[in-house]
Amino acid sequence: MKKRKKRAKKGEPQTITKAVTHIRLEATNAVKLTALDALASVYLELTQQYVTLFCTDELPNGFRAPCFLTPLSERWHRNAIQQAAGIAKSWRSNRANAYQGYLDALADYQEQKADGTLEEGVKEPEWREWNVPILRQPCIQANANVVKLEEAEDSAFDYWIKVSTLDKSHPLLIPVKLADYHIDALTDPETGKRRKINSSVTLNKRDEDWWLTLTYDETVAVQTPPDAPVIGIDVGIANFVTTSDGKTYGSFNGRLRERQKRDREKRRRKAKLRKCLEKKGTPKEKLPSTTSRTGQRLIRYVRQSINQAVNLCFDDPNHEGCQFAYEQLSVASMRHKARAMNAYMRASNLAHIPDQISWNATKRGVLATHVKSAYSSQECHVCHYVDRKNRPHQQTFCCRVCGHTAHADSNASENIASRLGDLELRACQNRQEVKILLMSRHEQWKQKFGYSVVVPPVQLGLWARSEASTDVG
Ligand SMILES: [Zn+2]
Repeated sequence: MKKRKKRAKKGEPQTITKAVTHIRLEATNAVKLTALDALASVYLELTQQYVTLFCTDELPNGFRAPCFLTPLSERWHRNAIQQAAGIAKSWRSNRANAYQGYLDALADYQEQKADGTLEEGVKEPEWREWNVPILRQPCIQANANVVKLEEAEDSAFDYWIKVSTLDKSHPLLIPVKLADYHIDALTDPETGKRRKINSSVTLNKRDEDWWLTLTYDETVAVQTPPDAPVIGIDVGIANFVTTSDGKTYGSFNGRLRERQKRDREKRRRKAKLRKCLEKKGTPKEKLPSTTSRTGQRLIRYVRQSINQAVNLCFDDPNHEGCQFAYEQLSVASMRHKARAMNAYMRASNLAHIPDQISWNATKRGVLATHVKSAYSSQECHVCHYVDRKNRPHQQTFCCRVCGHTAHADSNASENIASRLGDLELRACQNRQEVKILLMSRHEQWKQKFGYSVVVPPVQLGLWARSEASTDVG
């Protein structure tokens, strides 16, 4: 089951949209499905034209005046424009994120090059422009103007979908038979009645079959009282989830990393072979493809592992009755966390973790609040001193002032927990303001406890210099 969430104010009941997928359209009448095929190929072509337009020359706009010729009806034409606008919008935002990531990596590289801390063999990051998405498989996100779902009474089927076609006076009626697990999913367990199904439906063709996706809305109330104990969640690669009570869930290391390595090797070999064959004059269509099926599988696998890790965290009996605080990941913080992953994996997966946290909280009616992530991995949880050098290794946190030592992710998750309800921090407009605030708290800590008692004399000099430190990670 897929899912989507609509935003609601914190603490209020939230409406979530759940999808019931993989409902196969009955092939009782081959002629009907052939007519659907014909419609889909014209629709796909038109949608592609608008996707290209919205990704290159114009900003995505679902209300744009039609500008391409098509045998489709006006309603279908509008439907195609709207679907294309949605596709182009998400493509543009993913590309913008990846480009920002590249700019950040470049700035990082130049900074390190200037101060001579560049590790050997590190190359200058390069930007490769993204291709406009190509729609390969028929997918129709249809509103009720073009595809209607109707209940089938006195019939062996559950529904009919009524599809308006190229032949305007003859809509297609295609029967839908639900499997038991579809019926379960579409039945409200409290009332035992069929849920109200949303009017928009999705039709997908995979291999030779047509599949229908139905959606319904559900309202979930938040059960957690606002004063419930807070569990902070740090998001990362070595551990997908680290909580402030010292637990970890899921990891990119081990099996996942092995799979990624194998996939990369495979792609490299393929590219080499391609080049070789190209030189020999092999025709283009006979060259091995550059898109990687195993790569797609790997991404799905990483996402499943993330989902499992987040589920485990929420299911943990120790977390019952608690609320959660998690990071609002910025591009800068992602860059820090994801050195181990390649750019594509980074873009597609790291942000998936907070999304999953938010989704899990919503569907379970648990309170989860995102907090600012700036400096959460460099701030000392004890004395608030902020310095990149507090992280001698990726895994270790060791405060250069008070000596507080912890696993780096644990220290970060504790910071995140205490940022919940921290109004001063929330009011900060940018990273600089966050750093100034944290360092002023560090000053207060020093005055309160007298740092000279704690800090060996050798480190005093370090501390004095640190005020001028300009790192931003
Ligand atoms: Zn400290």
